[in-house]
Amino acid sequence: MEKGNLFLGPDLQYGADLPVLGEYDVIVAGGGMAGVAAAVAAGRTGAKTCLVERLQTVGGIATAGLMNLFYTPYEVMSGFGRELFSVLESKGGAVKGETVPFDQELCVSEFFRFLSEAKVDLFLDTWICGVSKNSAGDVDGLLVVNKPGMGILKGKRIVDATGDGDVSFYTGFPYEQGRAEDHKMRPLTLLFTVGGIDCRKFLDYVKENPGEFSPDPNQCIVNEETGEIRVFGFFSIVEKAKKAGYLYDSCNYFRIEAMFPERGTATINTIRVYDSDGTRNSDIVSAVVEARRQQSKIMEFVRMFIPGMEKSFLTSTGQIIGVRDTRRIVGELYMTEDDIAAGRDWPDSIGYCKGRQTLGHQGEGHSPDGTEGSENDYAVRQAVGRMVSFKIPYRILIPKGSKTVLLAGRNVSCDFLAHKHLRNQPACITTGTAAGIAAAVSAGDNTAVGDVDLSKIRNYLGDSEY
Ligand SMILES: Cc1cc2nc3c(=O)[nH]c(=O)nc-3n(C[C@H](O)[C@H](O)[C@H](O)COP(=O)(O)OP(=O)(O)OC[C@H]3O[C@@H](n4cnc5c(N)ncnc54)[C@H](O)[C@@H]3O)c2cc1C
Repeated sequence: MEKGNLFLGPDLQYGADLPVLGEYDVIVAGGGMAGVAAAVAAGRTGAKTCLVERLQTVGGIATAGLMNLFYTPYEVMSGFGRELFSVLESKGGAVKGETVPFDQELCVSEFFRFLSEAKVDLFLDTWICGVSKNSAGDVDGLLVVNKPGMGILKGKRIVDATGDGDVSFYTGFPYEQGRAEDHKMRPLTLLFTVGGIDCRKFLDYVKENPGEFSPDPNQCIVNEETGEIRVFGFFSIVEKAKKAGYLYDSCNYFRIEAMFPERGTATINTIRVYDSDGTRNSDIVSAVVEARRQQSKIMEFVRMFIPGMEKSFLTSTGQIIGVRDTRRIVGELYMTEDDIAAGRDWPDSIGYCKGRQTLGHQGEGHSPDGTEGSENDYAVRQAVGRMVSFKIPYRILIPKGSKTVLLAGRNVSCDFLAHKHLRNQPACITTGTAAGIAAAVSAGDNTAVGDVDLSKIRNYLGDSEY
């Protein structure tokens, strides 16, 4: 039992004796793309590592949320991302394209294998609801709750890969949310998959009607040779359907994120729930209800209006609603999209990413304004994105003033526009890997996370580009 110095938020302390459930060198909080990469990387160094995840599965938005597309060209991925791509591809579960659609079920199985081989202890079905601090005020554990009740996990170093920066929030580290001018965040999306598609008919329509779709050949891709298919548009069909009383006001286009023609299935990324804060329970609940309403309308619409989808049916819906952005924790370095556009080099670079993007405010990457896909949406209607390559500095993984906590994934330190690049799954894998290694080295050397020997991190990164 431990009488902890327990914090449920910056100003909220919890006072009770709680059982210590385990003691670790590295605790990874959250088992999404970033968390899995961090836990595998830490475990592989030999550090005693555990992963804490509220769901009964791993992969986060990418698997449980059905977001099965890595937004980077297959060939540019290095390190753990490359290992993952290769194993998925070798088992027929990933496409070698300009982007990498993948089989999320296979990805989950491979993640469990990687975690087991790296000897990572799993605390699934376990919520993190606070932190414990030592006498110096540094985080030395997590307050968790699962079926038997509450307990403490003690850790020398913690990687906050919760996506929402929950550990950092409970600790009291500063953070930002949304756009600088109005704090509005990108819309939430419940992804779902549809089966029974006549893909031949569907693809023929897309090829014969190019004016109906986004002009960006790398965002809207139909490559039947590689099997890489993403389609954004059906602009006039959507308009016609709305005039006939189908769909709903905020739906301005129909978007398929990944189609698997040999299976007759596709992942639909069309639901948009605006003005919702993914860190507020009441917002999440109403967003889920609204998303289900939109889903029924979309299914009705596709059967009635989309060529090849007349007999399609719903096969699965994400276990969690997709939250694009919430807390961005303010770190020792604050990365901006200007840094990314300039291709800035960093003395403490720990990774490299590449993806096609529209830069600046016209390419907010799903604007919070509620007009996505409308005639005024430059990014969807006119833009042809350019390939952007950028390096990632280690300091965006360190919350300001932190000695024991590191960040990984979509809650790293950056501005709203840089987040568009850093939130993508390949970037989350890259920051996760580096954070996991850094946490293990920091714990092993008993140095603060900001004083870690960079050459040791790079040694473990092996063939990763940085
Ligand atoms: C609709 C949508 C479409 C997208 N499209 C693409 C795309 O095409 N390509 C691309 O590369 N990226 C895309 N992204 C972005 C990308 O999928 C995510 O940003 C990325 O997967 C985030 O990974 P993560 O590990 O940082 O966070 P998450 O996936 O959010 O993982 C965080 C994990 O922590 C767990 N967790 C959170 N809080 C707690 C807690 N308190 N206690 C215990 N566990 C907790 C969660 O259950 C989750 O498993 C999209 C995102 C969305 C929402």
